[in-house]
Amino acid sequence: MVKKISELAAGKKHLRFMEVCGTHTVSIFRSGIRQILPDNVELVSGPGCPVCVTNDDYIDKAIAYSQQENFMIATFGDMLKVPGSRSSLSAAQSEGAEIKIVYSPLDCIKLAQDNPDKKIIFLAVGFETTAPTAAATVLAAKAQGIRNLFMLSAQKLVPPALKFLLNDSAVKVDGFLLPGHVAVIIGADAFNFLATDFKIPSAIGGFEAEEILSALLSLLEQIDGNRAEVSNNYRSVVKAEGNVAAKKILAQVYEVTDAEWRGMGKISASGLKMRDEFATFDIERVAPIDIEHVKKKNACRCGEVLRGIVKPIDCPLFGKACKPFHAVGACMVSVEGVCAAWFKYGGSNFKWEEKF
Ligand code: SF4
Repeated sequence: MVKKISELAAGKKHLRFMEVCGTHTVSIFRSGIRQILPDNVELVSGPGCPVCVTNDDYIDKAIAYSQQENFMIATFGDMLKVPGSRSSLSAAQSEGAEIKIVYSPLDCIKLAQDNPDKKIIFLAVGFETTAPTAAATVLAAKAQGIRNLFMLSAQKLVPPALKFLLNDSAVKVDGFLLPGHVAVIIGADAFNFLATDFKIPSAIGGFEAEEILSALLSLLEQIDGNRAEVSNNYRSVVKAEGNVAAKKILAQVYEVTDAEWRGMGKISASGLKMRDEFATFDIERVAPIDIEHVKKKNACRCGEVLRGIVKPIDCPLFGKACKPFHAVGACMVSVEGVCAAWFKYGGSNFKWEEKF
């Protein structure tokens, strides 16, 4: 496949393919795919790490809730160290806030049952991949009559973010390596607009090296054949229509709304909010809290990194003031964050002696 990719790329202009998913970013680094691609085929990372695209206001709000009496926050572990405008959940925890790590939103059912005098808030951060489990948790809580479990929702949808990127003149992309996990839920057909409306090649890829290469080869074949389509190179799990049962649960609990993305601002119809009939599980409607919007002043370039405009090593803080164990920006926190992946595996021009 590498030989074929090289043959098809020969003589072509510099090509930039965006991998949209943070798991792809890590797999590409881990398998050394960047190093074996021809010089004129560049892989850039996109906004595919849910923690990274969660904005400061959301973190500030979660911290504010954690500081209320009889509130307990339940979250995936990688949210703990994400910096808000002034602090992080980890800092709030060390100051006494009750914050529990969970591995699934469904773990919150037991937390709520074991702590009937507390309001349990699950930080529902993620894309279409994890949103159905959050929706299933709300349905389970409702069925069991649980009244002290709530969601602080920042669930996001990938296709509107891709549209946003394609309408941003600063973003230069010749094709998309589409997120396999998201595609499992929403289906390959949900990406058809890329070919019909934007005429841009795309390929859904799995996460093993050969699956990624197969998707990249498909992108080259489309460019060579002067055509744009959504190639499904992850057919073992991705169907055209997606996971119908998961989509049904999602639609039952959530409706589409505008959402704020770190680095991209408000994107129309790119988020999920709970339908009115589930409002009693929405902490922002049950116990609204005001936070002051603070614009952070530092040199973090997460916003441009997430749009593939600059690489992490273009950030003056990368590997110096900003490292995984004291991250300045969200992209350095999660294991799937672009900056964290560049730090761990190294990118071009990265001076390893500066790593520690
Ligand atoms: S290296 Fe750190 S400060 Fe720079 S863009 Fe990445 S997360 Fe932000």
